[in-house]
Amino acid sequence: MLITTDYLVVGAGASGLAFVDALVAEADVEVTLIDRRCAAGGHWLLAYPFVRLHSPSAYYGVNSLALGADRIDEVGENAGYYERATGEEVRDYFAVAASRLTRTGQVRILTEHEHVGQGADGEQVRDLRTGALHHVSVRRRVVDARYLEASVPAMHSPAFEIASGARVVPINDLPAAARSASYYTVLGSGKTAVDACTWLLDNDVEPERIRWIRPRDAWFHHRADFQPLEQVGAIINGLSLDAEAGAQAEAVDDLFERLEASGRLVRIDQSRPATMYRGTMLSGRELDALRQIEDVIRLGHVRRIERDRIVLEHGEARTVPEVLHVDCTALGLRNAPATPIFQPGRIVLQQVRHNTPPFNAALVGFVEADGDDDAQKNKLCPPNPYASSIHDWPRMMSRTWRTERRWLSEPDVAAWVAESRLNLLRALPDHLAEPPVQLAVQRFLTHVGAAIERLERIDGSGGCGAAGTVRA
Ligand SMILES: Cc1cc2nc3c(=O)[nH]c(=O)nc-3n(C[C@H](O)[C@H](O)[C@H](O)COP(=O)(O)OP(=O)(O)OC[C@H]3O[C@@H](n4cnc5c(N)ncnc54)[C@H](O)[C@@H]3O)c2cc1C
Repeated sequence: MLITTDYLVVGAGASGLAFVDALVAEADVEVTLIDRRCAAGGHWLLAYPFVRLHSPSAYYGVNSLALGADRIDEVGENAGYYERATGEEVRDYFAVAASRLTRTGQVRILTEHEHVGQGADGEQVRDLRTGALHHVSVRRRVVDARYLEASVPAMHSPAFEIASGARVVPINDLPAAARSASYYTVLGSGKTAVDACTWLLDNDVEPERIRWIRPRDAWFHHRADFQPLEQVGAIINGLSLDAEAGAQAEAVDDLFERLEASGRLVRIDQSRPATMYRGTMLSGRELDALRQIEDVIRLGHVRRIERDRIVLEHGEARTVPEVLHVDCTALGLRNAPATPIFQPGRIVLQQVRHNTPPFNAALVGFVEADGDDDAQKNKLCPPNPYASSIHDWPRMMSRTWRTERRWLSEPDVAAWVAESRLNLLRALPDHLAEPPVQLAVQRFLTHVGAAIERLERIDGSGGCGAAGTVRA
């Protein structure tokens, strides 16, 4: 079969959907969106049963369709904050978003279809149900919406050996397996491990029965600082603290001391150095709960789990067959190297503004429809890879702020950003009369210019010394 289309979008996760949604809202084009999975929604289709968004639903998803009702939760660990969709709600939402796209008449969605690559007659796509190979003739661009494909527990193979007799389950199987265990060892440093620990604590497992193997300690944002709409003042306040710290920092360690001192970032154990930064957030209650777990092993990555011992990079720990080991070591967000987003005949979806994947994909869709040439489009959307460590933070923030300034110089882009439901700062203009918001805006404007300059130097691209200090 030969398919002709303006755009072939590979990957129907949040990024592919948000891109297509924004593109067809602006341009009269034909789009073919494919995914090898059985439905749209990407990694959410395989998420563990108790997963939730870690950010509010209010600015997640696709631009044209609200997720949730912008309710403030009244009980639980999210009390006082905007609702966060469960995995099931996210999956249902993306199913609706996909069906709305097909109803536009502009979008054809082919699930269980895999992009194989480029052949002599154009792009090749395999129908995974029949094995048939289709040729796709693309008039405009192939859009790689899988470049940052998430690696989630259900699809990854652990990077450590599991000897016979050792009990190891992915986090997806924790609810089913938990009752048959007396003790639990959670493996991993990131948000998934945090979710496993909080699930156990919420299900009345005493902290003394939980051991946590953390190769790295992580920095977290406080969830209060990422609340949109009526609480948007907290977001600009947080950003103003980022800018102030960035403008004054001498080096990465100093920067993180400042960010912690201002309350902008938190770590579970304040007596231990934290080197990981993934942009994830916790509420105060989650943080308090996690701090109850005192049996933390910091001996690097796990190499092998046996019936009675765990072999790690830098040592060993005892275990017993009654312990359920919960694998939370999947990478999550992929650290793919930056490449230009707009290329001849191709778009490679990546991050632009920090920590907002759907916003970024939608922005690229809008800029593709609205912008002039690729040079200008790439100026408005320079790639800004996900951060993994504290050393990525200076680049992540300085690039975000430099890019946001460019948006302001383009009235169409500035207007789209201002109105986008995916823009976490959307409600800021409605709150500018509030004195705390004015103070935060003033602090941000005072420091952001110097912060960009200084963070670019700390990042190393602008001339930092081997130890990461700023050159005089
Ligand atoms: C547990 C978890 C919670 C998160 N919570 C938040 C949050 O609260 N807020 C937030 O902003 N972000 C959050 N994120 C980040 C999240 O990853 C992004 O928001 C987003 O879901 C990523 O979507 P994606 O489309 O880029 O990738 P994916 O969801 O991984 O989608 C990529 C798709 O490409 C398809 N694909 C790959 N190769 C091919 C091929 N050759 N042919 C066809 N199809 C192919 C895959 O099947 C997949 O469906 C979270 C991530 C995780 C793991």
